[in-house]
Amino acid sequence: MPPEEGTARQPSLPPARIGLGYDSHRFDASRQLYLGGVLIPDHAGLAGHSDGDAVCHAITDALLGAVAMGDIGEMFPDSSAVNAGRDSIEMLNLAVTRLAAAGFVPNQVDVTVVCETPRIGTHRAPIIEKLSAALGVAPGSVSIKGKTNEGMGWIGRGEGLACMAVASVVRTG
Ligand code: MG
Repeated sequence: MPPEEGTARQPSLPPARIGLGYDSHRFDASRQLYLGGVLIPDHAGLAGHSDGDAVCHAITDALLGAVAMGDIGEMFPDSSAVNAGRDSIEMLNLAVTRLAAAGFVPNQVDVTVVCETPRIGTHRAPIIEKLSAALGVAPGSVSIKGKTNEGMGWIGRGEGLACMAVASVVRTG
């Protein structure tokens, strides 16, 4: 039976848990594009019940997954009018609050956005600033990377984008 926290080989590291999040949305030219809470100008937005911010959604799912507390769809049902057009940074904040109530804080996140456009690197700095504030971590603990899908499949055809996030969390007490 392995120890619940830490290992004999890494006794000085704080107990950490890891979560994985994934999200995808179709582009919708009638909407504005928000990624990581940042308005990306001159690009089709993302369809969805909320503001469609797939970066925030993937991170929210990664955080909830790290503490085994369900998922974003359960926490913010798309059947609820409260969540219509909702700011996804606000949803991320509420997930962080839920983690805190369970005795955990975000530690670090790493995100990959897969899309042909926009170019994520161009918007990296403001996205990191926004996400690190929402998560309550240093900017150096947030990573966001963009990858194209090399023109293949639905992403390659520019129908939408996908986002993957890994988050680690640590116990506060
Ligand atoms: Mg979503």
